[in-house]
Amino acid sequence: MMTKLAPSPFLSIRGLRKSYGSLEALRGINLDLAPGEFLCLFGPNGAGKSTLLKIIATLLRPSSGKIRILDDDLENNPQEYRARLGMVSHQSFVYQDLTLLENLEFYAALYGVKDPRQRSLELLEQVNLADHYEMLAGNLSRGMQQRLTIARALLNDPELLLLDEPYTGLDEHAARVLRGQLQWLHDQQRTIIMVTHNLRRGMEAATRMGILVRGKLVYLQQKENIDPASFEELYFQKLEAV
Ligand code: ADP
Repeated sequence: MMTKLAPSPFLSIRGLRKSYGSLEALRGINLDLAPGEFLCLFGPNGAGKSTLLKIIATLLRPSSGKIRILDDDLENNPQEYRARLGMVSHQSFVYQDLTLLENLEFYAALYGVKDPRQRSLELLEQVNLADHYEMLAGNLSRGMQQRLTIARALLNDPELLLLDEPYTGLDEHAARVLRGQLQWLHDQQRTIIMVTHNLRRGMEAATRMGILVRGKLVYLQQKENIDPASFEELYFQKLEAV
């Protein structure tokens, strides 16, 4: 009998665990993402969502487990692995007293991007900040800061984008702009993992939904198999079941 081979995943996580002293923040995460998938992760405070994103982003070391992006193993090819990803987190990593362009040029040079100025201007254009390139980052509104942070995360043209609560502190207009930008990235076939408390924003953007509770992925489903009207109910059921 012919066996059909499943396409190899873009991101593969196996048996991932993380302890902070005696606290087990992640208790065995297994996850495969196909290229271009957009996973939205939900979960209560303290579930381990930020820990998971930080480990994938190499900002934190796991206690055990394996992570691979295509052929690049986090342990064996950390540099190649890192070059494939970008992260948008609560920390903006933006220098308040540098202009928008200076901020991006600084990081572009740091990442070894070719022609830092050209690339930085291109990205400011993409996130609709080109008109403000000479403005000091410290004078930006929260929504504009967020766009600059996204531009910074995209400097190395990452295939995998990690977003930790990107909607926090954004007003409806800024949230709409961010939504458009995420849609654009998704259309560019980037693979995306986003952590958010905003069920509505998560639902509209993602192709797959996951729920993390007390360090375990208790639910993972393709969005087309989910009834949006009952997802909130399902979310609370999952919280209570653990
Ligand atoms: P979430 O992002 O879902 O709110 P976190 O990943 O921030 O969850 O935290 C998961 C658990 O790990 C929580 O109980 C939190 O208190 C704990 N934790 C997170 N970071 C640290 C740390 N640096 N030292 C000790 N405990 C931590």
